Amino acid sequence: MRNDANIQKYRELAQKQMKKIIVIATGGTIAGSGEDGRTTEYRAGTIDVSDVLKTIPQINDLAEIEMISLISVDSNEMNERYWIKLRNTINEQAKRPDVDGIVITHGTDTIEETAYFLNLTVATEKPVVLTGAMRPATATSPDGPFNLFQAIALAANDQAHGCGVMCLFSSTIYSARNIAKTNNHKIDAFGLNEQAALGYMRDADVFITNHPTTRHTLFSRFCNKQFEAFPKVRMATYYAGADTAILDALEHDCDGIVIIGTGSGNYSQAWLQKLDELAEKGTIIVRSSRVPHSIVFDEQVFDPKNHFIGSNTLTPFKARILLMLCLTQTRDIEKIRNAFFRY
Ligand code: ASP
Repeated sequence: MRNDANIQKYRELAQKQMKKIIVIATGGTIAGSGEDGRTTEYRAGTIDVSDVLKTIPQINDLAEIEMISLISVDSNEMNERYWIKLRNTINEQAKRPDVDGIVITHGTDTIEETAYFLNLTVATEKPVVLTGAMRPATATSPDGPFNLFQAIALAANDQAHGCGVMCLFSSTIYSARNIAKTNNHKIDAFGLNEQAALGYMRDADVFITNHPTTRHTLFSRFCNKQFEAFPKVRMATYYAGADTAILDALEHDCDGIVIIGTGSGNYSQAWLQKLDELAEKGTIIVRSSRVPHSIVFDEQVFDPKNHFIGSNTLTPFKARILLMLCLTQTRDIEKIRNAFFRY
């Protein structure tokens, strides 16, 4: 029989079953503001994400939200220090038995790097979902609120457990390993390769269609380590006619270099000679490619001494993160090579 006491009881029951999601804000366009209505020339990370949350009150039927305003930056200011702070905060929150999932709001420019770093270093199976926006909160029809709504719905969904760190944009669920920004002016700004999508969403409903096959979160050898700082890994881009000046400059300045080569991770003979020299002196060299859809294998022509490492299907930026983490544990080239197949 329906009466007020019963309705109240059912409400309380529903409340108890409601998932608790922590939203950690780091800045970006989702928290950006500018001239009313405009989509450009705004400042990222200038408004509070709790104001964005207020524009999606229907989220209260899905989850109980707790907000942490951790950092407030344009994601071009993201760096290793912030990554450690964010990772430690996620680990702390994920340990709480009452927490079911974590959402991070982040600028789109470097979200793919932060996501991959977290994928390799957080120690939880609970869903960790990054999202952001291409239009500032003050634009006509901003995309942030809907992305945030879906990111929270995804983090609150049992299907999202064990998928590693994910990114949610435009109703698409991306793996942290494979997502990349491929468009800088549309709201559907992410994509890259076939492996990127783990599934999709329809409003708050989640459809996971693929699971990541590379190691992540609790299966990552980096997830239980404490980090204070990282070995220095720099990047060098090869282009037609590039001399070796950049490599000369990096010679005494880093532990590892990721080469952004042409084609299959290629460069000139002059570069090969200089890279051979650096490798012999102990710098770890990873070959990656500037081609958006590419795989870089270990090979004989551009590495006759077999002392560089192919980036496999990682983008140059993600290869840098993996090399940086590997170098916290080993300088053994074969062990690092192996990691590029597993992670
Ligand atoms: N520059 C912004 C950022 O990465 C871009 C964005 O969020 O879309 O913080």
